[in-house]
Amino acid sequence: MPPSVAILGGGIAGLSTAWHLQKLLPAKIPITLFEQSSHFGGWMESELVTRDGRRVLFEGGPRTLRIVGEPGKAMLELVHSLGLASSLKSVPKTSPAARNRYIYRGGQIHLLNPTPFNLLFSRSPVYAGILRGGVREAFVRRNSADDESVWNFFARRFDPRMADTLASAICHGVFAGNSKEMSMRSSFGSMWAAEQRSGSLVRDTMKGVITRSEDQAQLSNRWSSHETASFQKRLQQEASVVCFDQGMGRFPAAIVQDLRKASNVSLLGNQEVTKLELQEGPFSTIIHTKGNQPSSFSHVVSALPSTQLSRLLPTLANLSHIPYTTVAVVNLAFPSNVLPIRGFGYLVPGPELDATGGVLGCIFDSESHGDLEITRCTIMAGGWAFSKYFGDPTTADHDAILETALRAMRDQLGVTVQPLSSRILIQRDCIPQLLVGHHKKVSDVQDKLQEFQGHVQAIGAWITGVSVNDGVLAGRTAAEQVARSMNIEL
Ligand SMILES: Cc1cc2nc3c(=O)[nH]c(=O)nc-3n(C[C@H](O)[C@H](O)[C@H](O)COP(=O)(O)OP(=O)(O)OC[C@H]3O[C@@H](n4cnc5c(N)ncnc54)[C@H](O)[C@@H]3O)c2cc1C
Repeated sequence: MPPSVAILGGGIAGLSTAWHLQKLLPAKIPITLFEQSSHFGGWMESELVTRDGRRVLFEGGPRTLRIVGEPGKAMLELVHSLGLASSLKSVPKTSPAARNRYIYRGGQIHLLNPTPFNLLFSRSPVYAGILRGGVREAFVRRNSADDESVWNFFARRFDPRMADTLASAICHGVFAGNSKEMSMRSSFGSMWAAEQRSGSLVRDTMKGVITRSEDQAQLSNRWSSHETASFQKRLQQEASVVCFDQGMGRFPAAIVQDLRKASNVSLLGNQEVTKLELQEGPFSTIIHTKGNQPSSFSHVVSALPSTQLSRLLPTLANLSHIPYTTVAVVNLAFPSNVLPIRGFGYLVPGPELDATGGVLGCIFDSESHGDLEITRCTIMAGGWAFSKYFGDPTTADHDAILETALRAMRDQLGVTVQPLSSRILIQRDCIPQLLVGHHKKVSDVQDKLQEFQGHVQAIGAWITGVSVNDGVLAGRTAAEQVARSMNIEL
């Protein structure tokens, strides 16, 4: 059949695939993206509300993007190519939002600033076990198991107190997940690999092992002009993270706007994919959608959640066992500068969850935007423990969740002022949980898809990484793979 590409799912991974494909393929090859809802961008969603004549930005999903590594570079290159560079707000490395991160422990918020002085003399519970763990880590034997929980890894290599506080808080911040169940190998792969490579993280760091392969360097240069390279270099020198002045929704909206100009790209909203039929020799995939005639494509890139993909392709039924967590996102805006501390925000580790009523952390959004007149914060709650604190996500009581968030603001930060505006979103099944043994499910999928020689690929948060940047890079890599399988020279 003549070459044609279908992309399933219009989140950042799917949109990035479409954008990069459109740059790589000749204009005669059609590219069709199927998205079940009317909104493109998946979890990337922002709302600008006006209260008392003041404009307030609320983010429902991601709010800041890191700029390091290959994924950070891929994101910055895309942002620059879209002409969005001037909409990007960088958070300077010297600003409180970049320097100050806090952890809630023992009924108080503690600054995380592990200087040698603090590690030796501070009585703050957030440093408990770090010094002892750091000294002994170089002598702990390598684990021979093929995976273990994040909590186990930190307790074994460093100290159980570090696992209880730091490791647990980080799992809440990145995955809204339970450190005692999350896979170290799949969730924090570079640390896992460091132990496998050098037998110790401390020794690995001292060796300064260079992991960036020649191949990756070659891939990244293809998308980088002299201008984008200097834009990226400047940002990486001065900033720690970036955000968009009109909100994260600006990013997918700009990709959509650019794609709509291309005559060979069709972005189909309100098109839920209901079934896939894979056919061999010559390879093709028949795509069924709700209420429309099936259509055939020579290449398919799935950027769907694993639960959806397993439903469409029974051969991947194993994927239905990857759980997703639900997060209550409570956006709050206060009429003045009400926070007693400055910084990025704070995280709550597992042992404190009962005390906070299920609050996982609070992000000081206005700090990243350098907005000191209106205080904007987001309380994240629930995650892996959602049902324990809030019941069934479909019937959870929004008033009770708001009450929990305001209690956290009062008890943890001393904020008693009523918010100017608030918004509660129950983000159902929003973050995949990469549990111990996750890598086996992924390699099973990769083995099965291998048979289709690049004609069928799966990307997205559950398989190629949960950050927005991971989605951008995965889309770019998938597009290159499609082009290669069509024998298009890159
Ligand atoms: C509350 C929250 C905060 C976050 N904060 C950050 C952050 O600060 N920084 C960061 O980098 N990352 C953050 N993340 C993670 C990041 O936003 C996501 O992992 C990423 O956006 C996932 O992108 P994706 O394209 O893989 O999947 P999704 O965004 O889930 O996109 C999948 C798309 O597929 C569509 N779809 C599903 N089924 C079908 C079907 N049958 N047919 C057609 N279409 C279908 C969906 O409607 C959706 O649009 C956060 C996530 C959440 C939820």
